[in-house]
Amino acid sequence: MIRTILVFALIVVIAVAAVWLSDYPGDVRLTWGGYVVETSVIIVGALAFVFAVFVALIYRFWIWLKHGPGRIGAIFSARRRNKGLEAISSGMVAIAAGDAVEARRQAVAAEKHLSGEPMTLLLAAQAAELNEDNRAASIYYDRMMSRDDTEFLGLRGLINRAIKEGDLEKARDLAKRADELRPGTSWVLKELYELALKLRDWEGAESALTRLARGKSAKGDAVKRAKAVITYEQALSAMKEKETAKALSLAQQAHELAPTFVPAAVLDVELTAEQGSTRKLHKLIGEAWKHAPHRDLAEAIRSSVSGEQPSDWFRRAKETVAPHNPDHVETHLMLAKAALASNNWAPAREHLMRAGGDNPSASIFRMLAELEEKANADAFAAREWIVKSSLAPQDPLWICNSCGRQEEKWQAHCPACDSFDSFAWKTADRGPHNPDVIEAEIVREISADR
Ligand SMILES: [Zn+2]
Repeated sequence: MIRTILVFALIVVIAVAAVWLSDYPGDVRLTWGGYVVETSVIIVGALAFVFAVFVALIYRFWIWLKHGPGRIGAIFSARRRNKGLEAISSGMVAIAAGDAVEARRQAVAAEKHLSGEPMTLLLAAQAAELNEDNRAASIYYDRMMSRDDTEFLGLRGLINRAIKEGDLEKARDLAKRADELRPGTSWVLKELYELALKLRDWEGAESALTRLARGKSAKGDAVKRAKAVITYEQALSAMKEKETAKALSLAQQAHELAPTFVPAAVLDVELTAEQGSTRKLHKLIGEAWKHAPHRDLAEAIRSSVSGEQPSDWFRRAKETVAPHNPDHVETHLMLAKAALASNNWAPAREHLMRAGGDNPSASIFRMLAELEEKANADAFAAREWIVKSSLAPQDPLWICNSCGRQEEKWQAHCPACDSFDSFAWKTADRGPHNPDVIEAEIVREISADR
């Protein structure tokens, strides 16, 4: 209302002034250089008024810009931000597509528009990785490490870098830091477990595995098996330190965790024979043979009684060991060997035949040859078995599941490819059957005979 009155009053004043001016007309004469401008006072007044209004408007606009919270800045930074985000998204696409050059170009663009943002750092580090620029990648990861919101992400990058460079100790230290930052993160625990295994840090591997496998998965066979192998290695370490009681307890734990794990069964029998009671040993042998029949275990059981005669061992094997797993190939093999060593020819032949089954391995033929020579002094028959043994399938061995390396003795890590718990007891694949090669071999043997 007041505003309306004020505007009305202003119009009245202007009208009165205009009338007054027209009543007292006058001239304005302006001389400038060679120009002369002549006009009336009314025109000059009108021009002055328009100029004042224009200046007022400019002033109002300036105040609006100045007092609006970062109005100009906001307009420009939003544009920058959009450009930066565009560069980051294109860069990530380039990384996923493996386009190293484009990734680097977008990383530079992102750095220009969105410098210091977590995503920009990540893109720059990944682009450097893709370009195999290790130094730059490390620098970006280090920069990520110095910020609270990207430290964890930077750690992951640095851990992978350290592993790639083969510095496992450094990788483990970084993984421990990551575990402190976010305890229980699955990938960190997995990394801690793998690194501990590679460094043969059995305690570290055990604790990482225990934390990794919680609840249901802790009862899974694979976890139990891995724990058994780790515990077995700890038992071996205890034996090296001459801590025999600790070694026995660890061997028992390992054997209990995975009853089919042959090395633990063997060690448990050996150490119980040294330290335990006869009753305990007797019970243990039965259990072990039931779940982990194997030639190494047979040997451990045989030597658990010192100074035993071959005929006594044959009787003990037949009466106290074999009944726990009577039809297994290893049972027949154990009995055949014991019978052969104690000159019990008939049972030796019977168990060799049953151990061989349809496809006897080389060692069965060699034992048959030994039998012919010892029992019947039949050199001709023995020679026949020897020839057959050379064509028979190989005996089983510990063979690495990931690289095929063959070992006589089981090991936790493959000496060739460093895989953990990769050895399985099995027959080697002889490779593709090639009749030409075998024929050539036979021809060579025949001509060598002449
Ligand atoms: Zn291997």
